[in-house]
Amino acid sequence: MIKAIEYFLEIIRGALVTSRHFIVNMWFHILNLFGIKTKRKGAVTIQYPEEKKELAYRHRSLHRLLKRDNGRPRCVVCQLCATACPSECIYIEAAEDPDDDEFQKYPATFIIDLSRCCFCGFCVEACPEDALRMDTQKIEIAEYNRRDLIYDLTKLTQ
Ligand code: SF4
Ligand code: SF4
Repeated sequence: MIKAIEYFLEIIRGALVTSRHFIVNMWFHILNLFGIKTKRKGAVTIQYPEEKKELAYRHRSLHRLLKRDNGRPRCVVCQLCATACPSECIYIEAAEDPDDDEFQKYPATFIIDLSRCCFCGFCVEACPEDALRMDTQKIEIAEYNRRDLIYDLTKLTQ
């Protein structure tokens, strides 16, 4: 019997929390409707995925590798990004660039395993060539298979 009363009280408590949020939100929306500016705004439900929230300019989204004019990645395989990465999810293999005197190396393999990435942005900060950015504004990168989250040169330079 005591358990039943406890459960009932929990239901009442839950209903009160929901009602409080509803009334507070409604209050802010009403103030907004009458043009009264408040520090806090009423919560708005976004009908995702039909409706999408605009991301902040500096939001760290899916990585991309920038290219030089000759189409090769801007990366000079210094490995700084891989060293800075706390998740150890960047793997790069260098190759000798036969056409370019200035940049003697280019990445023959450049892999980011996004299943391990924590989107900290350290790799972007570490890059001295501004070759790696996280400004694609793509955040919908979920896959059914972990292997599909391994991004190679082709996917990173798209
Ligand atoms: S964002 Fe962070 S975790 Fe992801 S690849 Fe870059 S350094 Fe590694
Ligand atoms: S830090 Fe930049 S230049 Fe160096 S390996 Fe990474 S992407 Fe390439």
